Amino acid sequence: MNIKVAPEIAALVPYRPGKSLAEAKRQYGLSHFIKLASNECPLDLPADLVSYLSEALPQMNRYPDPVFFDLKQELHSKYKIPVSKMSFGNGSNEIIDLLIRGFCLPGDEILTSRGAFIAYKICAQAARVRPVELPLLPNYEIDLGSFEAYLEAHPGVGPKLIFIPNPNNPTGAYLSRKKLLSFLDKYGQREDFLIVIDQAYDEFVTHGDPVPELWSADYKNVCVLKTWSKVQGLAGLRLGMIIADEFVIDILDRIRNPFNVNTLAQKAALWTIQNPHWTDKIKDQVIRGREQFQNFLDSKKMTYVPSQGNFVFFDTTQDSSVFCDEALKKGLILRPLKNYGFNTEVRMSVGTDEENEFALGVLAELFE
Ligand SMILES: *Cc1c(COP(=O)(O)O)cnc(C)c1O
Repeated sequence: MNIKVAPEIAALVPYRPGKSLAEAKRQYGLSHFIKLASNECPLDLPADLVSYLSEALPQMNRYPDPVFFDLKQELHSKYKIPVSKMSFGNGSNEIIDLLIRGFCLPGDEILTSRGAFIAYKICAQAARVRPVELPLLPNYEIDLGSFEAYLEAHPGVGPKLIFIPNPNNPTGAYLSRKKLLSFLDKYGQREDFLIVIDQAYDEFVTHGDPVPELWSADYKNVCVLKTWSKVQGLAGLRLGMIIADEFVIDILDRIRNPFNVNTLAQKAALWTIQNPHWTDKIKDQVIRGREQFQNFLDSKKMTYVPSQGNFVFFDTTQDSSVFCDEALKKGLILRPLKNYGFNTEVRMSVGTDEENEFALGVLAELFE
């Protein structure tokens, strides 16, 4: 073929998801694997939700609601989010992509951290936008001080979008309310860039200060991203939300595909909002499992980031590919993080009680 592809796209390293169960079984010939590599919800969907979705299946001959009417109404009546400030995507990943396509010209830049969720970088490169990635602090926290220094050093010619995942994936580190708000107080009225706070894990935050409802605050250029993939357990259906100024929503609604969120995802999301006992159950499961992992790592004197997500990030003190390979041979799929620039650290998602037991057994053997 002689079609010229943009150099940014030719150089793009594709997203590497956690190894799937089927792939691991093929490669290692074991029949039993535990997958703790993708931060999914560990519990199967409840029977009530499954039968509710089954009832909708005969109507799958129809296109989905392109304006998310029921979902918006439900979120408005439950959380008072203004209907005009919401839009939805095929996972929040699609919204990240739309934000970059909608607001950046080729050659523009976005600002984030090295070691922040990698979708920002990949979506930027795909749109021929330059990702500026500033280092994390030594404790793996996002360094908002370095963001400020960068913005001050590039007045008027800096990033179009700033991505701050809080809690961050893959580290699990959390920026305190005080740190985040002091940054937003300084930059939350700027007209030349958007600040995107990605709150994929905020239901799992147990850190003293509650996560602020940023969309209700008076920060004109701040966008909040939410996903139904984590605490609601709908990763397979794909649904993400953005809450932002009407100007931002208008741009996204212009460029998204008209039927970007399928009917089952919209229906299932409605169910999760009306049935908070389900998300409470996941939250309890995750917070308990996370503590169990961290107590174990303490007992082994291993370094980890106190996690505010549904996973724990720890330093194996050895080459993470070798470590993850050894774990695989014992039937445990973990996530190595070399594509994030972490050579010895790995991420382990919280599973069911049995999966967690099994995983800690494998780690105990590997730490011998
Ligand atoms: C998992 C995750 C998402 C969610 O992605 P979806 O496309 O909604 O599944 C977004 N941001 C971060 C930081 C995540 O870890």
